[in-house]
Formats: sequence, structure tokens, C-alpha cells
Amino acid sequence: MSNATKLIHSIPVDPLTGSISVPIYQTSTFVQDAPGEHKGFDYARSNNPTRATLEKVIAQLEEGKAASAFASGLAAIDAVVKLLESGDEILAVDDIYGGAFRLFTHIYAKFGITVNYVDTTDVMNVIDAINPRTKLIWLETPTNPTLKISDIEAIAKIAKQNESLLCVDNTFASPALQQPIKLGADIVVHSATKYLGGHSDLIAGLVITKTQELGDKIKFIQNASGAILSPHDSWLVIRGIETLHLRVREHSRNALIVAKFLHSHPAVKRVYYPGLTTHPNHDIAARQQSKYGGIVSFTLKDDTEFAAKDVVCNTNLFKLAESLGGVKSLLCHPATMTHKSIPVDKRQAAGVSDSLIRLSVGLEDVDDLLQDLEQALAKVSVSKKQSRKSSTKKQFSN
Ligand SMILES: *Cc1c(COP(=O)(O)O)cnc(C)c1O
Repeated sequence: MSNATKLIHSIPVDPLTGSISVPIYQTSTFVQDAPGEHKGFDYARSNNPTRATLEKVIAQLEEGKAASAFASGLAAIDAVVKLLESGDEILAVDDIYGGAFRLFTHIYAKFGITVNYVDTTDVMNVIDAINPRTKLIWLETPTNPTLKISDIEAIAKIAKQNESLLCVDNTFASPALQQPIKLGADIVVHSATKYLGGHSDLIAGLVITKTQELGDKIKFIQNASGAILSPHDSWLVIRGIETLHLRVREHSRNALIVAKFLHSHPAVKRVYYPGLTTHPNHDIAARQQSKYGGIVSFTLKDDTEFAAKDVVCNTNLFKLAESLGGVKSLLCHPATMTHKSIPVDKRQAAGVSDSLIRLSVGLEDVDDLLQDLEQALAKVSVSKKQSRKSSTKKQFSN
């Protein structure tokens, strides 16, 4: 049976009523027959049937043993970091999601957890940096926003030898394209806000673990800290997941066409898309992903915030917004939006240059998307000719 079929039928029909849609159990508590005698649910922070269904579906989809659904992707990441103790070190990919960087640096540093950022696309860097204090390796692959690819299987072997946990943020690929646990990861996290929800209508996060034991630890942390996903949002994520394979296939198809178009456009300096053979990690991507996803980033020959603004303020179909993975195409300027909390030198060293633009390619007809980009890119050269004043350059910096 194909994964898509398995997924669709892993979402259960309600045994009580036959409802083909998963019921939303909008309740805070559950009546008990005698103290401690109940039907598996006692209080809705600890467990809720709608959330439990989502957790079962996503655990199966990621080929893990257990899962927990959180109020946001960052709450999910936070729960994983809480597995650690003061004095432990995280070895993380350098091109990390801005919110994860903020959490690690500005919250967990205070509690004695340190983070070492390295370019994990080169396995040698991981071997050099790992040490007895490294208790957690943190990968995103592909990364946000420069679409770097790390070799999950190779890094899982290094992690195991060092008795470190390997966690992969699988938000960009989604389990439709990549299943890190099958490649040796211990933990997978998602911002389900993105492809799993898929419709830009909720905030949610997920943690999936390879073992039940690790899953129980995450559940304990979740119950103790309280950042659970609501029943209604759990239901929305389930509904999103039903069409995950269909959507991600189409996102990937459109994105590859957009990436090729940008690659040959005269105003574009560099395109970041793992599906292009010119991508430095294309071979690893081809091995560990079934397709290349819906995110494309690019820089302009005029590598300034000013030129980037000309593009992001002039598209019609691509809406200027943070987030990604929804039906409608979005674009953003990471340097001043998603990645503004990262210090300039770190940001530029990780390849997030001033003109970098990130596209979340949606499900519109791809010819319309190309036309939209074409007319917006034409604005760059026009406004350049109208001789920019250096003083106005400051306007878009943060
Ligand atoms: C959005 C995102 C997150 C954070 O998720 P929220 O749901 O916004 O809290 C984490 N990792 C990646 C890769 C993301 O894109």
C-alpha cells in the first residue's frame, strides 16, 4: 500500500457514531467511575482524544513510536531542549530557524545550556565539534532560508557513537518527502503551522520520537509545562494532513519550475533550491528526499535590501508575509523579517545576504506565478535607473 493510502486510512472512523471526520472533544475534564477509574482520559492538559488521534496519525506518518502535539512549533522545540540538563551542549546547524536561535541563545543560555553552531552540510565539521558534553545534535534539513541539506544518516551514526540524541526539524520537507527517523534520527519536530496544517490557518507544533521511552519523557515535559494543542486546532492539523501528499507533490512541482525560471533570470544572482543540480548538496537531497519541497530562495545581482524591497513590495500573487507552506504563495525578506533576531555578521556568514528573498511557492497555476515574478523583478532594474539616494537606503534596514 502506498504511503498516501496508508496515511488517509490511518485517520480513524469514530467507533461510537461512525463519523468519518474525527470528533472534536471540546472538554476540559472527563468523568470518572471511581477515583482513578476512567476511560484513558482524566484531564485535557494531560490527554485529549482529538489530540491523541493527531499524535497517533503523525507518529505513524513519521514512522516513530510516539508523538506529542504542542501549541506551536517553538513549544515543540522547547520541550525537546527540556530533555537536557545544565552543562549540556547542543550542536546545531548554523542556518537555523530564527526563533530556535532566539530560544537557545536568550532563554536556555541562562540555564547553562550552550549551543555550538556549525555548518553541518560538511559531516567533518560535526565530527570536529562533537564532544562528551554534546547531548543533542540539532538539524534542519532543508534549512530556512538557504535550503542547506545535511546528511541525516551519516550524522545519526556520529550521534550514536557519541551517545547524543539527534533531532531533525522536518518542517520544510514534511514527512511526505523525508522521514528522518528511518534515516536514524531519534526525534523529529515540526512546525505544523506550515505544510502539515497546510492552509495558513493555525499555529501548531509536533514532536515525534523513535522510541516509546523518549516519547514518554516528552509527554511528561508537555504535561508539566502545559503547552498543548487545542482540540479544534488538533482537528485542523488532522484535516490538513489528509491532503499532505497531494499538496506537497504540487508545491514541489511548481517550486522546481520557479527555481529554474529564476536561475536563468538576468536580475538574479543565485538560486537556492535543492532540486537544482547546481545546488551544492543536491546529491544528498536526491538520496534522502523523494522531492525537493515548495521553498525557493534567491539573491539579486543588486545585493541590497533596497533591491529586495523592490521585488517583495511589487508582487501581486506572492503575498508579503512570514510563514510558509500554505495554499497561497508567500514571499519574505529574511534579513528584516524572519531572521532579524540573528546578529548581522552571523546572518551573513550563514548566507542570508541583504537581498535574499524566500518564496513559499503555493498551489496557484505556475504560469501565473512566473508572470508575477517576472513583472516584480523588472521593477528592480527600473528603480535602480532612477538613481537611488544613499540616504533612502537606510529605510529598509532594521
Ligand atoms: C516556523 C518554523 C518553526 C517555528 O514554528 P511555529 O509554529 O511558528 O512556532 C520552527 N522551525 C521551522 C523550520 C519553521 O519554519
